Amino acid sequence: MPGRQRLERLPIEQLLDNGGFLLSLIGQLCDSFYILDTRGRLHYASQPFRKAPSAINSLTLKKMLRFIDAGDRLTVQQAFRAAIRSRQSVSLEFRGSPEENQHRWYDANIIPVPDEHGEIALVVATAKDITERKRNELDLSHRAFHDALTGLPNRVLFQEHLAQALAHVRRSRQMLAVLYLDIDDFKLINDSMGHHAGDTYLRIMAERIRGCLRQSDSFARMGGDEFTILLSTVDSLESVVLVVKRIFQALQVPWKFENQEFVSTISMGISLYPINSDDAATLLKQSDIALYQVKQKGRNGFKFYAGL
Ligand code: GH3
Ligand code: MG
Repeated sequence: MPGRQRLERLPIEQLLDNGGFLLSLIGQLCDSFYILDTRGRLHYASQPFRKAPSAINSLTLKKMLRFIDAGDRLTVQQAFRAAIRSRQSVSLEFRGSPEENQHRWYDANIIPVPDEHGEIALVVATAKDITERKRNELDLSHRAFHDALTGLPNRVLFQEHLAQALAHVRRSRQMLAVLYLDIDDFKLINDSMGHHAGDTYLRIMAERIRGCLRQSDSFARMGGDEFTILLSTVDSLESVVLVVKRIFQALQVPWKFENQEFVSTISMGISLYPINSDDAATLLKQSDIALYQVKQKGRNGFKFYAGL
């Protein structure tokens, strides 16, 4: 093979001794890389720094940390020290702002390099921009826990919120309410005005109900026309009734679709911790049972769980 013969004749050792060759090789393996000494003084940067384009020699790890998000600075500092102490490469991810108002994610390697006596003399830090991959990951995980139509948390996330809230109220000895609601005769909206109208109503309804809740309350779409609300830390039954009435009032306002006005109603069942149960699954089931009882009694109302 002619290509192979040529490779064998390359003066590899000479090339490896050639700093330019190595710098170009590392530069192609990552987006940027830096060479520092063990005291954190910067000796080489493959890319100039924002606000300090020509002052590489005076830059230190401490000054470079300014380009890294405050929440990740300690992680980067610790990784630098750990690489020197352990004499092993350390990999990490961090967020930084290479330009003003620009937020990016990096995958970095901090590599300790020994001198001819085996002492760690230099540290090579490589960084690769992984912002796109991170955005996709965050987007995927958001989609796994949210409903696409309304943007609300889905069943899985609601159950997680409920478990967390229960753990919290058990410690603080407060009360918690689970509200389960379902739109009355929603099929009629779909059948008479079309699926698109139904979708629009689901969105409007979700927005109106969200407006009646506190930031700390959780509101989720369980599927179809079923929604759940978690009122975390309520102090009395009256305060639950107050929120419930606010929701019913908000839904009494007619909604418009293609120049026509409609009013639709909901039914709601409510269970309470610790009065009804101290278990998440049971609380959800009890609120669903109470909801079913409201449906049986003619809809458009709410009921606290009081047994089967
Ligand atoms: P009820 O008063 O007993 O609740 O009667 P309902 O007509 O509301 O019937 P039910 O709650 O059992 O069914 C809800 C319907 O919601 C069934 C389904 O066709 C419709 N649906 C489910 N998901 C969607 C959606 O994403 N968009 C729209 N437009 N309709 C949906
Ligand atoms: Mg319904």
